[in-house]
This record gives sequence, structure tokens and C-alpha cells, in this order.
Amino acid sequence: MRFRGGYNILLKGRPDSAIEVMPEPKILCLPLRSRRFTFSEICVKDGQSVSGGDVLANDPNNYAVPLLAPRAGTVRLKAVEDHIVLEDTAQLEEHADIVGEELSHIEQEMGAAGIKRYKLLVLGAWQFFCDAHTGALPDPLGTPQAIIVSTVSLEPFVARGDVQLHKRLLNFTRGLEQLQSLLEYQPIYLVMPDIKSEFANLIRNHIRGRAWVKVVEIPLMYPYDDFAILARGLGLKPNEVPVWAVRTEGVLAVDRALTLTKPCTVRIISIGGIGVNSPTHIKVVPGYPIEKIKDKYVFEPAARMINGGILTGEILGTKTLGIDTECRGITILPELKDREFLRFIRPGWDRNCYAECFLGSLRAKFRERLTTGICGEARPCISCNFCEEVCPANITPHLIHKYLYRGLIEEAEQARVDLCVECGLCSFVCPSKIDLRKQINDAKMLIAEEKEEIRRERFRQEEARKQAVKENSG
Ligand code: SF4
Ligand code: SF4
Repeated sequence: MRFRGGYNILLKGRPDSAIEVMPEPKILCLPLRSRRFTFSEICVKDGQSVSGGDVLANDPNNYAVPLLAPRAGTVRLKAVEDHIVLEDTAQLEEHADIVGEELSHIEQEMGAAGIKRYKLLVLGAWQFFCDAHTGALPDPLGTPQAIIVSTVSLEPFVARGDVQLHKRLLNFTRGLEQLQSLLEYQPIYLVMPDIKSEFANLIRNHIRGRAWVKVVEIPLMYPYDDFAILARGLGLKPNEVPVWAVRTEGVLAVDRALTLTKPCTVRIISIGGIGVNSPTHIKVVPGYPIEKIKDKYVFEPAARMINGGILTGEILGTKTLGIDTECRGITILPELKDREFLRFIRPGWDRNCYAECFLGSLRAKFRERLTTGICGEARPCISCNFCEEVCPANITPHLIHKYLYRGLIEEAEQARVDLCVECGLCSFVCPSKIDLRKQINDAKMLIAEEKEEIRRERFRQEEARKQAVKENSG
């Protein structure tokens, strides 16, 4: 497969491969919102006792994916805004909240494959899937043109695939077999690093003999693990037939749901960045109090907490009290409140820069200490072309920026903003500190909204025309 662009950002604070199990909490605060989901249909009452695995709420706009209770406890609905709180939690045996009647109904309608898909949905494994091209949750009853499974996570500092797989290779291969049982003849592409490491060799040995798995080896360069980039590289076109995409943790969740019929309520997430005393991976459940994680790992009094990686994560506001169901890692950066004294005259021995304009470029490769200080003001574009060089989507961010600056939305559309995979590299390398990723993303949304409005208007006109024909003929 051929790639273009890409850039590896070397930063201090990379999580090691250990997994620490966090102490059991007495209280869980489950956010009702995550990046893709809004759990607006509440299925429990205030004060109700629930068991681990019970459905607390679901997202009616996303095939009713459930928010599961990770532990037994008592529900509090109004204690914290936009959260379901579980008090007096206890770690008892989780059970699958599956209604027998529904199973027999599904079996009659859709057979054994239907039951498997239903289990994936209600046991929380389906939430790990996305459409490779759009990132949205695919229809669990749909049929994909292919599945892309990635064991690679290249963005600093989200949870690493090799850590997720630690001692669970057997579960992973069983999960792959379960995935294959959902398909007819469509291929499964297994994405692996193109290096000779113990981890890569172990996977190769485990999947030997499974001809339906096609191995795709990629260089360890960000963001070559992006599903849209991979799908385009594999020639899987965006059309009505989706391309399912799932990472290591999703395949393990498939195994848990279909082999053991158990709810998928545990997450292994990373905690990285230079604001952390020992960057590592932690085993938690959704709703785990962020304050407890902060107390244990964050030593910086003023720290910015980011939900996700350094390039695509979102700032964790003070209103979010627990880990959400889609969290893959938390990044902590020291928050600089004041400008560093005379920073602009320092030669930059401690700084990496894409433009290689600091003294640090003379050093052998090193990991930089990244803070929230952007060292300078936003400036106009200087046409250095760096954003275009690193862009893996083969578009011209600086040109799109200029179109958007002048309000030329149609021109921006023709420059293919739709191909942007939102990796954030253009914003990162831009010496003028222009937030290109946000600008392009906003333009994408605006264009999508306009198209949807045009589609609705056409539909309204067509309906009115049909009605008029009906009335005339009557
Ligand atoms: S334009 Fe989009 S795909 Fe290209 S570098 Fe920027 S964020 Fe990434
Ligand atoms: S990296 Fe920034 S300054 Fe350079 S061409 Fe792109 S937008 Fe302009």
C-alpha cells in the first residue's frame, strides 16, 4: 500500500506497557455523552438497584447502543448534570441483560447470525466499531464490503495495541473467528506494523492458517493507522456498502460478547503526557472518577486534561466527572498561564520543529517536553507548504484555509475538504499557528448541512408534486 504525508511527533510522556488496575471506586459517574453517542433514552429510575451489565440508557440515534452499568449499585439520576451516578457500587458477577423472548424472536427472523449481531449490540461490543470512511457507527444488521482490524495506534498518547493484546492473543484470534462468522465472503484486513518485533511475530504465528485474514503491514508513521486512509489505500470505496473498522480492543470485546456472552464494561486506557508522574496504562470501567485518576497520576497543579491523543483529543471540561465509554486515553499537559520569559530569543535546543529552524534540529532524534504554550501568536499563512507536505489525504490545507478566509465555500468543496481525515498534522506543523484542522472540519460540517438542506428541500418539492398530481387525477 502506498502512503503520502505523515509525520511522527516525538514527545516525552509516552505510556509504558504496564497495565495498572485502579482500585474499586465506591461511586461511578457515567457521562451521558461521548464523542459519537448521546445516551438520551434513560432506562432506569432514580434509586433503582442495578446489577453489572444492566442497561442504564441508550442512544436512540445510534441503533440504541446501550450505556451499561459496569458494576452493581444504586442509580442516582439527578446527582450530577449529564451523568448517571452509581452509588454504593459492588463488584459482583456481571450478567448479560438479554431478554429470552427477544432472542427467540430474532432467531426466527434472522437465524443464528442475527443473534450474534444482537449480542454484539446489547453487550456493548458494537460501540467499538465504526465506518472506516465516516467514523460513524455502522448498522449492526448491515453487511460490510470488508472489515479492517487495526492492531496499531500511532497517535501520541492513546492506548497501544500491543498493550491491549498483552496475554490475550488467544482471545484476539477467537474474536477474529467470531467476526468472520458474521461475513459471507468479505475479507478481513488485519493491519500490523511492518517491523520484525516479538509482538508482530506472535500475531503472525497466531493467524497462520487463517486464509480469510489478509495481513496489511504499515510503516509506524502517524496517521497511517487512520481507517479512512487505510480504506482508500485498499481500494475500498465509500459507497452504500460500508467498510467496518475496529481496533484490537474491539476484537477482544467481540470475543467476550460472543464466546462468553458477557458485557464489555472494562477499558484499558493510557495516561500519558509530561504532566503525569509515571505514564502508563490503566484498567478502569466507564464512569471511573477522573478526580481519582488525577490524584494518583497528575503531579502538575495546573494541568490540561485531554480526552484522547495529543492531536485529535478534546479538552476534558470540569463538568465531565467520569471516564466516558469511548475513552482510549487521557493526556496531561502542564498548563502555562504566563508567557515564558524571553522565550523568543532562546535558540530552542530542547525543541523539535518540522521546519528544523531551532537548534534542536542539530541533535540526534529526541523526545520533546510538550506543554500547552504555543510560543507565539497566530500569523497569516506564509505559504511554506508544510501543511501540504504532511497531509496524508493529498489535499492542500493552506489553499483551503485561504478559500475559507474569503468565504469561498464552493471552492473549498472543490478542493476536497471531504477527504480530510482530521488527523491534525497540518495544524501541528503550521509555523503560523493556524488551526487548519478545525477550519477544515467546520467547513466539512457546513457543506454537509447545506447538502442535507438541499436534499430535504428536493424531497419536500417532490412530495408536493406527487400530492398535486394525486389531487388533479382525483
Ligand atoms: S487537512 Fe485534514 S487530513 Fe490533511 S493534515 Fe490536515 S487534518 Fe490531516
Ligand atoms: S503550514 Fe501554515 S503557514 Fe505554512 S502553508 Fe500551511 S497554512 Fe500556510
